[in-house]
Amino acid sequence: MKFICIRQSIILIYTILIIVILISISFTYIITKNNYNNDIITEEIEDELEFICEDENNCEDSVRKELLIEQYNNKKLIALTFDDGPSKYTETLVDEMKKRNVPVTFFILGENASKRMDTLKFQIDAGNEIGIHSYTHKLFTKLNEDEILEQINKTKEVIKKVYDKEIVYIRVPYGSRNKKVDSSLEKANLTDVLWNVDSKDWKFKNTTKTYSYVIKKVKGNDIILMHDTFKTSIEAAVKIVDKLLEEDYTFVTVSEFYETKNIIELNK
Ligand SMILES: [Zn+2]
Repeated sequence: MKFICIRQSIILIYTILIIVILISISFTYIITKNNYNNDIITEEIEDELEFICEDENNCEDSVRKELLIEQYNNKKLIALTFDDGPSKYTETLVDEMKKRNVPVTFFILGENASKRMDTLKFQIDAGNEIGIHSYTHKLFTKLNEDEILEQINKTKEVIKKVYDKEIVYIRVPYGSRNKKVDSSLEKANLTDVLWNVDSKDWKFKNTTKTYSYVIKKVKGNDIILMHDTFKTSIEAAVKIVDKLLEEDYTFVTVSEFYETKNIIELNK
């Protein structure tokens, strides 16, 4: 009986020891992980953020920037982008994203926008970013420089009617470029924005398939390509956003995405 009791005590002591060791390992992991996260805000970045924060009005900006730097470091930033609109579905998308406090970037077709100026204004007023796609979705590599610039300038004119900021981003139709296209973009002072996750929403035209496909492809710090011209794309986008918000991703405009990336790369 005495022997059994000693055995039980030894087992109990061992169990307690193992639990203590496991807890210590977990704490060490958490502390190391947090230190690693803090390291990305280097002294230089901190100075920069403090400088922005000196002006009280910009303090909110500084806090947002700090969050985005940390999220980029944790591979948790997403820029959700939509091409080819505005369409009759765009306002629903804007409403749904606004409810979730998620900004998106629209690469618009000038011709579509000219027929839906109220929608374009609605997109802008909700705090989303606007870039150019083209005027009539022509393949730029088949156009001469004057024709490319016409596609761009006509679209700029449409946007100008409701938006006074300069447009700096374009996504060329089909992502198709050559030297002539590049030199035209340079003349128009535009940066071409590509993507690394193609939702293939135009091909699936199916909410669940588009949703599952994107979720599988997302790795963090992604620019996702979708189209606000299909009802299924809007439905899929809402599901994608809800799922990724649940997983602690932060959504940003293309400008914020590039700005954050640049801060980190410049301070490396
Ligand atoms: Zn397109």
